[in-house]
Amino acid sequence: MRKKIGFIIIVLSVILSICLCKTTQNEGVTTIIKDSKNMLIAINYPKTKYKTLNKEIERYVEETYNNFKDAYENFFGLGNKAELNIDYEYHQVDDRYLSITLYTYIDSHTLSLPLKTIYSFLYDCKKGTYHLLPDIVKNKKEMNVYIKDSLKQKYASYGTEEIDVPNELGAWPFTIDSKKVSLYIPTGKPEFAYYVVHIPLEYFEIGHIEKEEKAFQYTPKLSTIDPTAKVIALTFDDGPTKYTKDVLKILKKYKVTATFFVLGNKVPMYAETLKEVLTSGNEIGNHSYNHKLMSRLDKDSLLEQIDMTQKIIKEELDYTPVSLRPTYGSVNDKIRNNSSLKIVLWTVDTLDWKIKDSKKIAKRGLKVKDGDIILMHDAKERTVKALDIIIPKLLEEGYQFVTTSELEETKLLRKRL
Ligand code: ZN
Repeated sequence: MRKKIGFIIIVLSVILSICLCKTTQNEGVTTIIKDSKNMLIAINYPKTKYKTLNKEIERYVEETYNNFKDAYENFFGLGNKAELNIDYEYHQVDDRYLSITLYTYIDSHTLSLPLKTIYSFLYDCKKGTYHLLPDIVKNKKEMNVYIKDSLKQKYASYGTEEIDVPNELGAWPFTIDSKKVSLYIPTGKPEFAYYVVHIPLEYFEIGHIEKEEKAFQYTPKLSTIDPTAKVIALTFDDGPTKYTKDVLKILKKYKVTATFFVLGNKVPMYAETLKEVLTSGNEIGNHSYNHKLMSRLDKDSLLEQIDMTQKIIKEELDYTPVSLRPTYGSVNDKIRNNSSLKIVLWTVDTLDWKIKDSKKIAKRGLKVKDGDIILMHDAKERTVKALDIIIPKLLEEGYQFVTTSELEETKLLRKRL
């Protein structure tokens, strides 16, 4: 990769050298979710303030997407379900480096096991250049000993034969966060794609920046539902996104609340917005970590999707979701039996992910009855516009807006009436 873009980078690094990445704030996430009959696509990648970096990330995503489409049309067979998932990790390592890791997951009925690949690099924000791990290792010999020792323990736990560790780290993918370097070493085995070796930061020439800690404590609000009046639950999937704030604004305008089924991987990027979501009396539910088709996952991967999301929400928001909305609304016994979270689907689909006209979305959202759950997505402006029609009209019709937990509570209260 360095060869390809080397020349452009040299030219651009002069321009970029004035840019400093002091802030750890991200510019956002680009999300592409497509749910056609047999092709399920969920792509998330970071959009940074560095144009060349964005271009490189976009190039990778586009190439992967095109390869997947090719395979879908020529190899997987058009009648079969196939899934492409691209997810990322983004860490500001210090005031110079950004660690970018892109995870690709491809599954199809024609594959016996899902394909997993990782693409990663370090971005030098000051110079606008790209680096691999060997560029920042302090002592290559020590590093190799460390990796070999770690791998030996892994062979024992995985029950596999030893693989050769080359003397150079090479182009193995990696992620650097505030505590460690995670190195992904290809196993060459279909059951698990990579051995993961965690290496302390001391082995590398990198600094460390302290994350600003703002203590946030979640205090649940007391609900005031009148069980004798009609209730309706608005729900938003696939967020948070940059539109979540706008959705929240509309909810506040009419003093109503809703439930947001979020993707775990997007939570840190929009933590501040989500804190506001909670303090305004809304509920947050779990919608998986990165929108994989949950009903197709094996037990371990399924639990990982659910638990990672629970953990990240707890860490970032001091809040524990009690409900789960399986991706694509696809639910089976494996999901039912492996999670203590309450599974919440919907009864009214506004199709706001497909219909472009906000009035048409609103029309669908207004065809409701007492106790309905409306599905929307906080990912488009048209949804925000449709809400501005739906909410006042339903308030006029005497509906109380409740979260999905409050909806359950209402059912209980009504039984006691
Ligand atoms: Zn979804």
